[in-house]
Amino acid sequence: MDNEITILLYHGVTEHENVGITNHANKHLSLSEFSEQMAWLSSNANLLSMDEVAEMFQKNLPFPEKSVAVTFDDGYKNNYTTAMPILDEYKIPTTFYIAAGMIGKDDLFWVDKIEACIEKTEEEYIEINMAENTVKYNLDSNENKLHALYSIKKYCKLSSQKEVDAIVMGLIKATKVNPTVGDNPNYSTMNWDEVRELHKNKKYIIGGHSVKHEIFSNLDTEFMKSTIRESVEILSKELNSTIQHYSYPEGIGKQFSYEVVTSLKKNKIKCCPTARYGKNNSSINLFNLYRVMVGLGGTPFPYKAISNGDDLELLDPSNMTNLVNSDN
Ligand SMILES: [Zn+2]
Repeated sequence: MDNEITILLYHGVTEHENVGITNHANKHLSLSEFSEQMAWLSSNANLLSMDEVAEMFQKNLPFPEKSVAVTFDDGYKNNYTTAMPILDEYKIPTTFYIAAGMIGKDDLFWVDKIEACIEKTEEEYIEINMAENTVKYNLDSNENKLHALYSIKKYCKLSSQKEVDAIVMGLIKATKVNPTVGDNPNYSTMNWDEVRELHKNKKYIIGGHSVKHEIFSNLDTEFMKSTIRESVEILSKELNSTIQHYSYPEGIGKQFSYEVVTSLKKNKIKCCPTARYGKNNSSINLFNLYRVMVGLGGTPFPYKAISNGDDLELLDPSNMTNLVNSDN
C-alpha cells in the first residue's frame, strides 16, 4: 500500500492562560503541548516541506513512511514569538499561510472580534440582527456566552462578507465592547518584518490565505477573484518573491470550488490544502489535500496514524460544532 502523508494544521501556540470563553476551541495550543509534539516529530517522522510535498505529487513519487508536513494558518504573532523558537530548535520545515491584509495591522480577525465582544461585555442580554431576523442571546454565564459565540460564528460562516461585517458591527454596538488587539495576547498578528524573517529562513515557506479571512464560497465570483489576486500581490510585493502556496480560509466545504481553484492557478499557486480532516495518499490532488487540525475542538495529535500508518482516530461528534465549522 502507498504511504500516506499527514499534514498538520495549527493556528497558534500560546503561553497564556485562557480567560473566560477565550480560546475555548483550543485554536491556540499550549507551548508545552506543541513543544512535546515537535520533539516527537523530529525523532519519529519524515518531515517534508510543502514544496517537497508538491514536488512528490507532481512527479508521482511515493511518500516515505511516516511522512508529515507542518503548517500554520492565519498569521498570528505567536507563530513568530512562541512557535518559531521550537520549530527552529527541532528544525521542522513549516509553511505559514497568512491572511495578507491582517499583517502589521492593529486589527482583529472577525472571529476574534466576536469572541472579544462576548467575553468582555457587561451586558447580560443582547439582541442582534442577523439577515432578516432579530436574534436574542443571554450572556449571563460562560455557558450562555459559548452558545452565543458558536451560534453567531456558525451563522457568519454561511453569510456574505458584507453580512459578516454588519453582524460584527451590530455585536459591537449591542455588547458595548470595542475589541482591540490588547484584549488578548493571542489576537495579534505578525508584522511584515516578522513575516520577512520567517521567509528568509530556508526551512519556512510563506503562503497566502485570503486578505482578511474572507470565506471564498460566500463571495461573489468577481470579489473572490480579486481577493485571491490581491492577497497574492501583497505577499509577493512585501516579500519580493513569488508565492506558490496557499490554503483556503475555512476550507471545509465549498470553499474550493472549480472557480476558486482556477483563480488560484491563474495566480501561479501550485498547492492549496483544505482544512478537511484526513491523511493523503498519492491519488489525491494538490488543491484538495486533507489536514489534521491538531487540538482544535479536541482533535488529538495523530501519533499512531503517523508512527504505524493507522487510520486517523474518529473525532468526538460532540465537538463537531467546532470542527465542521472552521479552520479558525
Ligand atoms: Zn484560517
